Amino acid sequence: MTSTHFKVIVVGGGPVGLTAAHALWRAGIDFVLLESRPSIVIDAGSNLVLLPMGLRLLGQLGLLEALNTVSSPLGRIQRTDHVGCDIGDANFFVHYKENHGIAPRVISRLDLTQVLYTTLPSEVQSCLLPDKRVATITTTPNFTTVNCTDGTTHTGSIIIGADGAHSLVRRQMRALALQSGSPPDEVNPEQPFLTTYQAIWVRFPTPANLTPGDARETHGVGAAVQLFAGEETSVIGVYERLASPTTARLRFGAAEEEAFIARRGNLPISAGLTIGDAYAARVQAGMVSLEEGVAAHWSWDSRVVLVGDAAHKFTPSTGAGCNNGMVDVAVLVNQLRRCTEAGLGAPSKALVAEALAAYQEGRYAEVVKGCQGAGQATATATWKNAVFKFVDLHILANHRVQKMFMGRAAPAIARTPVLEFIEGVPMAGGKVAWAENGVQTRAVKAG
Ligand SMILES: Cc1cc2nc3c(=O)[nH]c(=O)nc-3n(C[C@H](O)[C@H](O)[C@H](O)COP(=O)(O)OP(=O)(O)OC[C@H]3O[C@@H](n4cnc5c(N)ncnc54)[C@H](O)[C@@H]3O)c2cc1C
Repeated sequence: MTSTHFKVIVVGGGPVGLTAAHALWRAGIDFVLLESRPSIVIDAGSNLVLLPMGLRLLGQLGLLEALNTVSSPLGRIQRTDHVGCDIGDANFFVHYKENHGIAPRVISRLDLTQVLYTTLPSEVQSCLLPDKRVATITTTPNFTTVNCTDGTTHTGSIIIGADGAHSLVRRQMRALALQSGSPPDEVNPEQPFLTTYQAIWVRFPTPANLTPGDARETHGVGAAVQLFAGEETSVIGVYERLASPTTARLRFGAAEEEAFIARRGNLPISAGLTIGDAYAARVQAGMVSLEEGVAAHWSWDSRVVLVGDAAHKFTPSTGAGCNNGMVDVAVLVNQLRRCTEAGLGAPSKALVAEALAAYQEGRYAEVVKGCQGAGQATATATWKNAVFKFVDLHILANHRVQKMFMGRAAPAIARTPVLEFIEGVPMAGGKVAWAENGVQTRAVKAG
């Protein structure tokens, strides 16, 4: 490694880290990706909804065809309350398709990471190293080094922390900032996210009375369920409000999972199917805490930068956390590419600092809005109080309100950034034209 060479170290090979691998490769930026798990593609985790904002970027990377074969388009959401009474359908996914020309799709984390990994050429795949748990980060004037628990070290110009909500990179960034004399109020707190809900997700064989692409929600006091049916398996997420919010890291084992099912197992999901039934037929399940928040500081000293859940954590209700993480990657890599192209050799620290500041500025407001929207959706579905219950039953259930709401959101969605150095985004348009690099090419008409 010489001081004229610019190299990125990506920590974390989840969906956002793997998107970064694609984007960096396509930008011609040298990188290595370090993932703590024993293989890059693993069969673990809940299913995800890919929204038009994420699908457009994935389409730009040439992945839509492969993704379409392993995902199902989503349409109308049928909603009931805790005793199975109809509380009105939600057409948010239908309006996504009308407005943006592409329906949200549900995909398993396995299939998503598999597509992201297998579509990289083998010489790029060899830059993705499993079984590398990063433990510490050290910096010198020109380089940044990560030290892994297996004793290996990797040196580069900058680290991208794509290592999830409990990010080691974010914690190391905080320690480095404090050591270098940054005042405590100018660094992220040890725990920047607040947990108000816990969740259990269950994957189970798609029952005969559900069709791939079916979506269901069950709403009521203290808990809500979302179901997305896939070709072979369906997934439910059950979100339950905690007695009081906490910044402490919650850990769950089999006992907590079983107690959750004992408490909530009788909640209906669709006709003749309860959470308990889905759990009994489970292929996989897991219990997680649903942290929420946006870290105030996304980078430090031109050496470390955060993307995805490491920077911001949404509740899953709007299916937007991962999608936003992928968009982070597009904005960050656009900036890194611009500054690596600006001169010969590695860009100066000042230039990288500008790029990282522009990255956060380009994303922060949208991410804060998205995080708040997700939190409100979870609070509404779990009937946080009488007002949220009223909104859920009498306002959000109204199809005209749903259409207006999605129409109002559409221009910002259409301006979602993509990679500026890849020509032609292969996306059918809807009522609202997609913007090219933030510029709308024809009038916006939605709602
Ligand atoms: C029940 C549920 C449903 C969800 N549904 C949706 C949805 O529908 N749509 C959506 O957009 N989002 C959804 N999300 C959110 C989504 O899962 C996350 O936003 C997404 O996984 C974030 O991706 P990431 O790559 O940033 O982080 P992660 O997925 O957390 O990946 C981080 C990676 O870093 C690795 N890692 C961690 N520490 C280290 C280390 N020290 N060294 C090396 N590697 C390390 C981990 O092993 C992991 O592979 C959902 C979340 C939950 C819990």
